[in-house]
Amino acid sequence: MPKEADLIIIGAGPGGYRAAEYAAKQGLKVMIFEDAEVGGTCLNVGCIPTKTYVHAKSFEEARERMPQVVSQLRAGVEAILSHPNITLVREKAVFGKTAIFGEAPVIIATGSETKWLPIEGVKTDPRVVDSTGLLHLDTLPKRLAIIGAGVIGMEFASVFNRFGSEVTVIEYLKECLPALDSDIAKRLRKYLEKRGITFRMKTAVENLADIDADVILMATGRKPRTEGLGLEQMGITLAPNGAIPVDDDFRVISSLPLEKPREGEQRSEMGMYAIGDVNGRQMLAHAAEMQAVHAVNQILGKSDGIRFDIMPAAIFTEPEAACVGPTEDQLKAAGIPYIVKKSFWRANGKALAMGETEGMLKLFASPEGLILGCHAYGAHASDIIQEVSVLMCKHTTMEELADMVHIHPTLSEILKATAEN
Ligand code: FAD
Repeated sequence: MPKEADLIIIGAGPGGYRAAEYAAKQGLKVMIFEDAEVGGTCLNVGCIPTKTYVHAKSFEEARERMPQVVSQLRAGVEAILSHPNITLVREKAVFGKTAIFGEAPVIIATGSETKWLPIEGVKTDPRVVDSTGLLHLDTLPKRLAIIGAGVIGMEFASVFNRFGSEVTVIEYLKECLPALDSDIAKRLRKYLEKRGITFRMKTAVENLADIDADVILMATGRKPRTEGLGLEQMGITLAPNGAIPVDDDFRVISSLPLEKPREGEQRSEMGMYAIGDVNGRQMLAHAAEMQAVHAVNQILGKSDGIRFDIMPAAIFTEPEAACVGPTEDQLKAAGIPYIVKKSFWRANGKALAMGETEGMLKLFASPEGLILGCHAYGAHASDIIQEVSVLMCKHTTMEELADMVHIHPTLSEILKATAEN
């Protein structure tokens, strides 16, 4: 292990490996610690395995393909980390124990873990699994109960319903997917209900014995992973939700100062950063990657134009849902003046041709027409929302969008048609 490193990274998930890749290309010598497989939650037990399930025709196909897809992508991450400027250390990093700390800036990218509901039987009832456990079941459950109608719960509900399980979703709140516009969330839930999923909304699970199911998925959220990291040694006090508190550049707040830059070094900032799920800001793989780039830029003293306030997100149910910007309820609550325009998948030629007519889109703009956000559900909603994100980054108005040529026939014409309405 080389003694010298310009940058130390803890965790090789999307945040950590992207930071390592980007920093190494900028000429920094990077040391990255990982105590499990590289690729983190996203690649090993998150985004990629779940999307393999979403796109598989059957449970059996999903179980067969998942390890192949994961190992192929993992080999790709290992190739990235074999850059001559990167040293991958396959061990757990602990402040105060791992000798290297104190000599270089540190990026903490330790991710998150399942948040278990604190009710009796959670650890002893053999029917209870988290998302990782569900992905590794050998047989398709006949009856699957899902506690929590957030992103993870809804994606699994949709896919296991299609595989043939009898799915019941139990949710404490009145609507699913709280980050999504409530209109859109309600329509998606109603559609999934029609497909055979049972929703028990406004229901608090108090006793697992009351749940009649073969498997119970705990999908009540994720919490930042910081245990055993030795953060107290560094004077870091966690936020009430367990996250490492950071400023808008992802610099850890209230950490003790590290050493000053060595002579001749160009870095304008030394210190400690926390990126990705561990800072609890936006628990998404693409957020982690972009935060990684921004943190490295801070270390290098480089500016960038990354807009963390424009953070698109998708829910890979069938059909998909996706959003960028505030919901209508949030706009109202904040007293922001807005106009809203709606469109439906059933009015789009491509959607009809595909037989995918379920879906609705809500596009929000200021009274002057500046696009403020968009929430939608329907086939390929994530691709449409990605287009809106780009438009928002470029301060586009509805009028300008209506003037932009869109290929016919495509689902993206739904967006153009909305602006023309
Ligand atoms: P992680 O990916 O969690 O990586 C952290 C890494 O740090 C891990 O490899 C861990 O082993 C390592 N580590 C921790 N502590 C130490 C230590 N002390 N020393 C050394 N190594 C350590 N996001 C999306 O954007 N799209 C999706 O479709 C999506 N689907 C998801 C589905 C599921 C079921 C789940 C659970 C999550 C999903 N996510 C999705 C969220 C996404 O996986 C996370 O936002 C993303 O992985 C966060 O990246 P990260 O780098 O912050 O952390």
